[in-house]
This record gives sequence, C-alpha cells and structure tokens, in this order.
Amino acid sequence: MSNRCLRRTGAGQVVQKLLIKAILERNLIREGDRILIAASGGKDSTVLAWALQQVRPALKTDYELAALHISSDFCACCKKSVLSQKLEAWGIPFTDLFVPIMGRLKPGEKMNCYWCSTQRRTELLRYAVAHKFNQIALGHHLDDIIETFFMNMTAKGELSAMSMVLSYRKYPVRLIRPLGYVEEQQIVACAQEQDILHAACTCPYGMHSQRRDIRNRIARFTDNSSAVKRRIFTALSALPVQGEPRA
Ligand code: SF4
Repeated sequence: MSNRCLRRTGAGQVVQKLLIKAILERNLIREGDRILIAASGGKDSTVLAWALQQVRPALKTDYELAALHISSDFCACCKKSVLSQKLEAWGIPFTDLFVPIMGRLKPGEKMNCYWCSTQRRTELLRYAVAHKFNQIALGHHLDDIIETFFMNMTAKGELSAMSMVLSYRKYPVRLIRPLGYVEEQQIVACAQEQDILHAACTCPYGMHSQRRDIRNRIARFTDNSSAVKRRIFTALSALPVQGEPRA
C-alpha cells in the first residue's frame, strides 16, 4: 500500500483492519481472554496496545488487556512515564518490572541480544502465569516475521518461521502476534497519525545487529515492494514454527 493510499484511508484504520483480519483468521483472541501486552516502549508494541483497545467494538469479544514493561540494568531508551500515561489514558493498566539482565551473566559470559531476549521472555512468561494471563501479545509485525525467517536460514541453516500463535508445553500461556499482517511502514504511519510515541531503541547491543543487516538486504531484493513481502509472508505460513525468542 502506498503512502498516499495510507493517508487517504487513515493509517490507524488500516492497522485496525489488518489487526481484525489477523485476529479472526488466526483465532488470536477468544471470549474471556486475559491478554498481557509486552510493552517495550517502542512504536510497535505501543501501536499494538492502542489498536487492541480500538478494535473491541468490531470484534464483539470480551477480553482483558494489561501491559508489562521490562526494565533492565543496561538499557534506558524507553520514556516509561510517557508510556504509562498513554496506556492508562487508553484504559490499559501498566506495570514496570525490573530485571537485572547484565547482573545474571556468569563470569566470562558476554552480553548479547539472544541472552537478553531469552531472559526477557522468561520473565514475561513467569509474570503472565503468576498473574493469570492466558495470552501474551507481542508487537512483532510482518517485516519482523520475514526478517526472522532469513536470519534463521542464514545464521542457523534452519527453515523455520516466527508463528502468529505459539503455545508452550511448560506454561499455560499462548504467545500471539496480532500485528503479523501489518507492515512496519503502516505502523510508522499509524504512530504518526495517532501521535503515538516513537521511542527509537538506543540499546548499545542492538545497534549493529544481524537483524539490521538482513533488513537492508530484504529491502534491496524486494525493492521494498509490499506485494513481494506479502507473498513471502504467505509462503512462510507453511513452514515449521520457531519456538525460540528473538530480539
Ligand atoms: S536490542 Fe537486544 S540487547 Fe538490546 S534490549 Fe533489545 S533484545 Fe536486549
């Protein structure tokens, strides 16, 4: 979808439409669900929180929303007060949980995204179980899903994809990715239109990540075409699900 078309249709409406489509087609939200939104403070999870609240009347489903932000001992890129004010204004309770991620490294171990995201995911799951949430909503979008596929293939020699729904054997919780049908440029347009904060991640460990490199390569070979990216996304739906966390 072109930027001109996004402006005409209304970027927020585009996101809501794709969110509803994903929720209905993939059965992401059911009556009575208690959904914990993993709120990083960035545009993706903040737009997700906004949109999940907006689509309630259209879905005609009764579900509960709350948001959890995980703070750590090395990254302070998120303006928590702004995030909590936004979420509370939308009627979504907000909790900030401090996790000493660096402090958990054993002597000689180095900090990296994989370690960090695994620690965050574990804490998210523990919090959800302890507070009786049965779903965790993540802000990954269509571009994240495509990038992860190429990262798995090139770095691990694995053909697997991030799933839009993931159940755990160990935890009574499902992970859902309701923005899976939404492209990053559509989220950016929505965040601008709705004046949703856009805190860029300044984490020193994420600045030169492999993900950025893959993102640039995908942009080159798809020529940033939405149609091509959506065809790749459709092709990925047939692949085995990847269960490991990613940054
Ligand atoms: S970029 Fe990587 S290291 Fe930094 S907060 Fe995100 S997951 Fe953690």
